[in-house]
Amino acid sequence: MASCFKTAIHWFRRDLRLTDNQALWNACQQAEQVVPAYILSTWQGTHAWTGPGRQQFLCGCLSSLSRNLEAEGNGALILRNGDAVEALERLVKETRADAIFFNRDPDPFGRNTENRVRELCRSLGIACVDFKDVVLHEPDEVLTNSGSPYKVYTPYSRTWFDLEKEDPLPRARTFQTPKDLASDPLPTLETWGLSSPDDLVAIDPGERAARDRLSRALEGPLERYQEERNLPSAESTSRLGPDLRYGTVSIREIYHRARKTADLAETASARTSLHTFLKQLAWREFFMAILGHFPNVLEEEFNPKWRGLEWDDPEHQDRFQRWQEGNTGFPIVDAGMRQLRATGYMHNRVRMIVAMFLTKDLHLHWRLGEAHFMRHLLDGEVANNNGGWQWSAGTGADAAPYFRIQNPWTQTSRYDPEGIYIKDWLPELADADPRSFQSPPSPGTSTAPGYPAPIVDHREERQETLERFKRHAESTSS
Ligand code: FAD
Repeated sequence: MASCFKTAIHWFRRDLRLTDNQALWNACQQAEQVVPAYILSTWQGTHAWTGPGRQQFLCGCLSSLSRNLEAEGNGALILRNGDAVEALERLVKETRADAIFFNRDPDPFGRNTENRVRELCRSLGIACVDFKDVVLHEPDEVLTNSGSPYKVYTPYSRTWFDLEKEDPLPRARTFQTPKDLASDPLPTLETWGLSSPDDLVAIDPGERAARDRLSRALEGPLERYQEERNLPSAESTSRLGPDLRYGTVSIREIYHRARKTADLAETASARTSLHTFLKQLAWREFFMAILGHFPNVLEEEFNPKWRGLEWDDPEHQDRFQRWQEGNTGFPIVDAGMRQLRATGYMHNRVRMIVAMFLTKDLHLHWRLGEAHFMRHLLDGEVANNNGGWQWSAGTGADAAPYFRIQNPWTQTSRYDPEGIYIKDWLPELADADPRSFQSPPSPGTSTAPGYPAPIVDHREERQETLERFKRHAESTSS
């Protein structure tokens, strides 16, 4: 194909890979030279929605991307600090680029910056070429027959599955980059004034590690997904969340490899399992569509009926702190919160349990939990996290109805009956009888010496929650 552009900037964002990268592949096809650029945002100190764990993972992904670019004979990754639009403007002027290529972001913060970049390109008289890459189907592709967004997952997913899915693209070809371009150094946590999270045992970052994770998941765990995905000790989920967050492997590759594995699977249960896994990818895009169509979910309850509900004030008690630290006296909740701190990950079943516990047992606002998760999760994803929290609080799109309140004790007997997960994360319960994790200890006592007594009585708080929802419904209907 004849080149359309002399020099194109490929603006890396949440697509930190060389294989099946829509914008990068197209930039390489259409331009004589490509500038692979990443712009680091320069906030300092505390950031309400990220933390050292995820930033460290990002550092690792950038360093791996930079090594991969150079190993394949491309120009090095050009890193710049600052406001993305200003940094891109400077880079366009330095390189005399005649185009900026990028992949579209699903969240409102990213889309806002994209609009400013489009405006910049218009004002500079250069091309702005953007692509769908982060999802299989963008919000406007999955609509009801009358053209409106779905608010319920099941019909959304039916339409989602019916749509044709693009195949992955090959690895981007080797490209030339203008010589002698200055780059800021690769970031470290000090770049943002952060210090290393204590003993965080996180997964390996980068494209190679992501592809290995996908292969490992497809070689066994995902064939047992249907039966085991709710067991937090089973490790039978993909652990691809951070890779999907930073695009170290593409959603197309994940989808098509899982489909192929399902087609070749020898047992019906393996096929069902892989299909259930694909449904989770549809949940991801459902929540991205909700956020795309209803960005107000970041500020208020999706369901207008539950706006203005009564929440307790976190300042007046130490409940929020005890929940964050994993010291509530509810073993399954504490195990989850400690797993989050130690690894930047928490099993999905346990995410639901701790989220319901915060909102329904401690009566604290889901937005407190949402922000805490964003600071600690390596896979912290605005849309999924908001969707998960509003689902658990009973306020979201297709949410669990408010009266379905999970009981942490019975959840334990169903999903961690032998206490394997709990004992993994709570050394103080190592010698306790796992049956003691399945019902509350006698009032005023704790499950084991050195472990706190339960912070609340679940039965009482459940009742309190039901009354709050009922009162709110009555007060707003009159
Ligand atoms: P797998 O089970 O292997 O699933 C594969 C992928 O499908 C995931 O990586 C994810 O992209 C997607 N997925 C799976 N389950 C869901 C779901 N219920 N909703 C949306 N997408 C899903 N997921 C995030 O990616 N980021 C978050 O910040 C996040 N916050 C959550 C908060 C709460 C309160 C709850 C209840 C769930 C949250 N989830 C979030 C969804 C889910 O817990 C994680 O996606 C999953 O645990 C990640 O582990 P995995 O990659 O092994 O998942």
